[in-house]
Amino acid sequence: MLNVRIDLAAFRHNLAAIKSLAPGAAILPVIKADGYGHGMIALARESLKFGAPMLGVGALEEGRTLRREKIAAPALLLDGIFPEEAADAVKYRLTPVVFSLDVAKELNRAGKKAGKKIAVHLKFDTGMGRLGFTLHQAIEAVTQIAKMKNIHVEGVMTHFASASDVQSPQTDNQLRRFAGVLEVVKKTGLKPLYIHAANSAAILNYKQSHYGMVRPGIALYGAPPTELKGLAFKPVMSVTSRLISVKDIPQGEGIGYNATYVTPRNKKVGVVLGGYADGINRLLSNRGLFLVRGKPVPIIGNVCMDMVMVDLSRVPSAAPGDEVVILGGGVPETSAEHWAELAGTIPYEIFCRLGVGPRAQRSYK
Ligand SMILES: *Cc1c(COP(=O)(O)O)cnc(C)c1O
Repeated sequence: MLNVRIDLAAFRHNLAAIKSLAPGAAILPVIKADGYGHGMIALARESLKFGAPMLGVGALEEGRTLRREKIAAPALLLDGIFPEEAADAVKYRLTPVVFSLDVAKELNRAGKKAGKKIAVHLKFDTGMGRLGFTLHQAIEAVTQIAKMKNIHVEGVMTHFASASDVQSPQTDNQLRRFAGVLEVVKKTGLKPLYIHAANSAAILNYKQSHYGMVRPGIALYGAPPTELKGLAFKPVMSVTSRLISVKDIPQGEGIGYNATYVTPRNKKVGVVLGGYADGINRLLSNRGLFLVRGKPVPIIGNVCMDMVMVDLSRVPSAAPGDEVVILGGGVPETSAEHWAELAGTIPYEIFCRLGVGPRAQRSYK
């Protein structure tokens, strides 16, 4: 059982930091994947209190979850919908990202049936190679959709592939292509309220990508993909557990499955509750560090499903029941960035896997 603490003041601080970087733009906080593992509902409420005009979620089911929790604010379905989901998207007043004419047609039909205009955001693939009308499809798509009487093109958007890498020419290329798309949109007479492109990295690195709205995700969770001098984002998630066992193990004994660690001398070894089933990446085996009584303690042996063993040599007073800081604690060793580096991944994945599931006890302060 992991204790996952979510610091809402830190989340608010990060929203304000984004606002200071993009003062002229509306903020669409991206809270898909259960708020990157932080809890979508609490963050939705904080975001709306902060003044966000709209929330960014993933697929239809996440939009429905917002509605079930009585959050009525506009919500953009970033993952889009399948044609057969059009009626539900309308019923739950969700705003789909649209990148297919089939879906647009179904939404138009559902809108006609409901007697209203359905707001959508059109997405264009300017180089991400994922969702969006290609540049070849753009003119045809925009022309067709502009004619649909029950569709209201509220937004036009794209997504960057490499905005964290300022050396790469890709973002400038994508911006150039997007400008071309916006010309097409303008020629059709459409006047979208929101033009948006920037994820966290682009908000930090490419001011010209802010347009009228920005879509921060990871920066709001305190792990921006690039550093900016004089601007600090605060980590929002911290994770703790406790030592379930502490004992002395003699020299030359194996620790954990396949004995990938053998005690080089007599050792005090602690067993922490929480393992890969709780999102503690197995690649941290024999590499990661936790904190016990404020001191970094190395993970020894393979991370197990439910438990992790740590070397308590530096904390001779450690006892069963002691708190163990797994993530957070204000030191580099237990930061998401450090974890990600050791596990060969990115902080996004660390957050998404920790703090979810029935064994995580999430609390907010
Ligand atoms: C997830 C997502 C974002 C947020 O990206 P970050 O890198 O976390 O800031 C923005 N836009 C879209 C379309 C996304 O899917």
